[in-house]
Amino acid sequence: MGSMEARTTSENGSAPKGNENQQQPEDGSQDRVLAGNPPENDASGKRKAGVLPLEVGTRVMCRWRDGKFHPVKVIERRKIPCGVPSDYEYYVHYTEYNRRLDEWVKLEQLDLDSVETDVDEKVEDKATSLKMTRHQKRKIDETHVEGHEELDAASLREHEEFTKVKNIATIELGRYEIETWYFSPFPPEYNDCSKLFFCEFCLNFMKRKEQLQRHMRKCDLKHPPGDEIYRNGTLSMFEVDGKKNKVYGQNLCYLAKLFLDHKTLYYDVDLFLFYVLCECDDRGCHMVGYFSKEKHSEESYNLACILTLPPYQRKGYGKFLIAFSYELSKKEGKVGTPERPLSDLGLVSYRGYWTRVLLDILKKHKGNISIKELSDMTAIKAEDILTTLQGLDLIQYRKGQHVICADPKVLDRHLKAAGRGGLEVDVSKLIWTPYKEQG
Ligand SMILES: [Zn+2]
Repeated sequence: MGSMEARTTSENGSAPKGNENQQQPEDGSQDRVLAGNPPENDASGKRKAGVLPLEVGTRVMCRWRDGKFHPVKVIERRKIPCGVPSDYEYYVHYTEYNRRLDEWVKLEQLDLDSVETDVDEKVEDKATSLKMTRHQKRKIDETHVEGHEELDAASLREHEEFTKVKNIATIELGRYEIETWYFSPFPPEYNDCSKLFFCEFCLNFMKRKEQLQRHMRKCDLKHPPGDEIYRNGTLSMFEVDGKKNKVYGQNLCYLAKLFLDHKTLYYDVDLFLFYVLCECDDRGCHMVGYFSKEKHSEESYNLACILTLPPYQRKGYGKFLIAFSYELSKKEGKVGTPERPLSDLGLVSYRGYWTRVLLDILKKHKGNISIKELSDMTAIKAEDILTTLQGLDLIQYRKGQHVICADPKVLDRHLKAAGRGGLEVDVSKLIWTPYKEQG
C-alpha cells in the first residue's frame, strides 16, 4: 500500500508558473479588471474578468502544497460563507493524480492566465451538480444498501456526481488525526461536519471531541469485538462476525470508505467476516488495517475490501493482510482471489505478493511444475498465476499448453523488482477454524 508522501516526489508534467504576468501593464488597469470593467486593449485582463467565477469543468493551473503549479479541473464551486458575495472557492481534481488528492482551494491558488475555457460537457449541467434532490439522494442510499447490484451507466454517473466532493475532511482515530481521501456516505445528520471523532475500539463516531471524551470514559472495549485468531509479538488479528457485531461492521465500512474510492459500501454486513489487524500495547489494541471476506463466495473470493490506515502505510501491513487472506484459504483447502475492481494501491500490492510467492517456489523447485500445482501449493487462483507469470514474460505456449520458462537469473531480477515481502505471517501462530453457519 502506498502513501501520500510518495506522490509529492513525483512532479511529472508539473508546470512551474510562467512569466506571463510580467507582461501585464503596470498602469493600474489590473484594479479596473477586478472591478469588472476591463479596458479593451488589455487581453489578459479581459480574459480574467470574463472567467470569474470559474465554471465547473474549467481546466486551470493550481498551486499545490508542494508550492508548484499543477493542472487541475474544477469539480465544484461554492460561495465563501463570510466573504464577498462574488467570492468562490473551488473543489479541484489534480488531473495527473488520484482522486484522493481532490480538495477545496482558494482563488489565490489558481493561475487565471492558464484558464482553458472549453467547459467539459459532462458537467455542464450545473443544476444537478450543485444540489442533489432528496429523491436522487435516497435512490443512491438505496443502491448502497442493496450493495451487490451492478450499477447501470446512469446510476454510476449519479453516484459519481454525488460522491465527487469529499464530505469529511479529517478524522480523529486513537492518537492520530488523519486526512481523508474520498467521500463516504455517513448518515445525513453528519452532513455539516468536516471532522469526525472515532472511538478507536468500537469505531463509533461523533461530531465533537467532548462527546468522544465522554464516550471513552464508558466504552469498555479495548480491542475489536471478536475472536483473536492470531498473535505474534505485539501484532494481533481479530475475526469479527458482521452478523454478531452489526454496528461495528457498519462503522468499519463508513471509516474504510473514506480511503477507498470505487468500493461499493456494503450495509449487509451480516454476510461478511472482518479481519482486523491491531498493534497492541498496555492501552489496548489499535487497528492498523483490515480486510473483509464474504462468508460464502460463489466466485471463490477470499477478500472483499482491504485497507491499511494511512498512518500505518509503508510498513508492510498491506502485504501482511494479503498473505493472511491466503493462509485462511489454505486452511479452508480452497483457492481464492480478491474481489474486483482492486484499487490502484491494492493492485500493486497483489502483483508484488503473487510475484514473490510464485517466483520463490519456481526458484527452489527442481523439474517441471504446472500452474495447477502452483495453485494447490499457494491457494492462488490459476488465472491469477497465469496473468502474473504472463506479465513477467515467463510463460510460453507450446503444443497447446502453457509452459513456465524460468531462468534463475530472470527470476532473481523479477524478485528484486517485486520488493520486500513485508511482515511475515507465522502460520504456527494462527489458531482458526473456517467459518460455519450455526444452527
Ligand atoms: Zn467505543
